[in-house]
Amino acid sequence: MEENKNYRLLIHGGVGTILKENMTAEKEAAYLKTLTKSLEAGEDILKNNGSAVKAVEAAVAVLEDSPLFNAGKGAVFNSDEKNEMDASIMDGSTLDSGAVLEVGTIKNPISAALEVMKHSPHILLAGSGAEKFADQQGCQIVDPSYFYTDSRFEQLQIAKETGEVMLDHSGDNKSAAANFENGGTKFGTVGAVALDANGNIASATSTGGMTNKQFGRIGDTPIIGAGTYANNKTCAVSCTGHGEFFIKNVVAYDVSALMEYKELSLIDAANYVINDKLKNQDGEGGLVAIDAKGNYTMCFNTPGMYRGIVGSESPIEVEIYQ
Ligand code: ASP
Repeated sequence: MEENKNYRLLIHGGVGTILKENMTAEKEAAYLKTLTKSLEAGEDILKNNGSAVKAVEAAVAVLEDSPLFNAGKGAVFNSDEKNEMDASIMDGSTLDSGAVLEVGTIKNPISAALEVMKHSPHILLAGSGAEKFADQQGCQIVDPSYFYTDSRFEQLQIAKETGEVMLDHSGDNKSAAANFENGGTKFGTVGAVALDANGNIASATSTGGMTNKQFGRIGDTPIIGAGTYANNKTCAVSCTGHGEFFIKNVVAYDVSALMEYKELSLIDAANYVINDKLKNQDGEGGLVAIDAKGNYTMCFNTPGMYRGIVGSESPIEVEIYQ
């Protein structure tokens, strides 16, 4: 078999007002450790000539399993005190995609999204239909209480007391958002993009959405083109941030389209969308992205983004702040 060619994997664990002064050493270490574990899981697949799709699924599943991030266990609560989660995955070599929306019993929503992509004629499956399909495909089903964490429940109480739906993107330090753990980690969505040794790229994103969101609300995460997009011709993108802005600006696809039609580089395209277009609308967020040549970017317009990178030629690096 041909010697392993270059691979690369990037992950994120959400953006927000993540400030070092509000972070304890223990908490910081826990975040960095889990980000590292996620990169190791994905790299293990890429190193062994596995596909970018499998790598992004594996990396995201580790973050879903951690209560630290707003996806899978530790997902935020909606206004109805429930965890409604969304996830999507896309294969840049075929444009095949899969997503689950508003699910509350699938342990790893990203794995269910992959099942939708591989084994159903559809792309988006919602609610009980998605849960039933995931169960039939052998995904692990859990009691909704599995996703509960005290810290997320407390965040919901704060948001409810102030009447704040966490769609409020104000940077006001007195807002409930700012009282969030680490001084305001508002968006803890997780995601990954990868380039595999065969030159294919893929992306995956998973979230609990936004605290105190109206039940039934769907963000950008499971919307192909908004929160997730991958096309070998251009790039693979996974987004995090205020979902409504990412939907109306079709952010992930916009980065791809700027590359395809305007021939912008990946870095210029992502930078324009996040730091110009979105910023001018007060749309908070960021993304990780890679192209088939291995160019990559981790770009955000907030004080921090949990993120990490590893490649065939470079060791694991994990970061939190600007
Ligand atoms: N984009 C997600 C949503 O709006 C939130 C996040 O990134 O944390 O549902």
